[in-house]
Amino acid sequence: MSNTFNPVPLVLFGVPFHNVTFDEAIQWAVDRVRSGKPGVIATANLDFLVLAQNDPQLREVLYEADLVIADGFPPVKLAPFYGPPLKGRVTGSDITPMLAERAAREGISVYGLGAAEGVAAKAMEVLKKRHPELNVAGAWSPPYAPLDQMNHAEILRRLDEAKPDILFTAFGAPKQDKFNHLHVKTWKVPVAIGIGGTLDFIAGVQTRAPVWVQKIHCEWLWRWGTDPKRLTKRYVTNIGFLIRAVWLTLKLRLGKNIPATVDPSAPPHWPAHGVTYHEFQDLETVPGDLSGNVVMDLRNVEWLSSLEIGVLLELSKRVRKVVLLHAGSKVRKLFEFSKLTDRLPLAETCAEALRL
Ligand code: UDP
Repeated sequence: MSNTFNPVPLVLFGVPFHNVTFDEAIQWAVDRVRSGKPGVIATANLDFLVLAQNDPQLREVLYEADLVIADGFPPVKLAPFYGPPLKGRVTGSDITPMLAERAAREGISVYGLGAAEGVAAKAMEVLKKRHPELNVAGAWSPPYAPLDQMNHAEILRRLDEAKPDILFTAFGAPKQDKFNHLHVKTWKVPVAIGIGGTLDFIAGVQTRAPVWVQKIHCEWLWRWGTDPKRLTKRYVTNIGFLIRAVWLTLKLRLGKNIPATVDPSAPPHWPAHGVTYHEFQDLETVPGDLSGNVVMDLRNVEWLSSLEIGVLLELSKRVRKVVLLHAGSKVRKLFEFSKLTDRLPLAETCAEALRL
């Protein structure tokens, strides 16, 4: 089986999500191990959407992640209002044991990194017991410390020695994802995936919600109930964000047409030196050979779908800079809410686009 999913992400509230099923994500990991090219997977849930709002570094980590899976119902439920629906929820807690099972069949090695002292080793022991043929390259729970105070050299030394194919990084979000991002360009680990509290679940030091609670989308309520001291602030903030996101969705996607703010008199003196000008109509019209600085004129589009934003995001990785000109007020509102403007800045006039 090879991958069939569209590698262009759906961008929801500024976070890119790859539209994959469990099987496709697992196959992606196996293919990546076979290719040997280091890559990272982020398991993004509502908490990520909220954290990314206030953390430019995390936004960058998510833009650059090779695979971002939708670990939560809010992105899955809201996706159809913004473009193609997501195929479903792909949770880090479920994909981790599934990856271990596939790894055991394929001769792929795994390493558990993080969680409280001894928990990573216990989790790897449990996985080995379930799949005796699993190649466990190692496990280590380094002492808790902020990212910039961790002993990175020691972790890298251990990983270099163990040479795992798949690294389960469990420092909690966003630390684990920043950690993977920091090292993916220099280490030789083909797949590193941030898995939050999953090692705790596998080792049995935390109990996951019963399946019926998961099925009615209330796993978060269960976690809240089991650890209210730590999680109350997080969940209250997340619920506040969700209410604002739903409100924005109602305003932008169900409301009356908000007129675009295009200034038709703006004289497009293109091409300017070192800048490619492109008039954006829809996905199909974006040429693949743009380079340098690109100005995308949105005067003819009223709205950008999550997939179209995904295309622009991918384009922004290939060229020096993408500036969006003449965005209508709906697009502007969405971009400002999602903080997408630091990666895809908006300009109202040609002069401003050139300055950016
Ligand atoms: N953790 C860690 N180092 C830290 C902070 C947390 O190893 O500095 C571990 C913690 O023991 C737990 C995991 O990270 O096993 C996930 O933490 P949390 O429940 O906050 O993550 P979530 O799944 O909620 O993102």
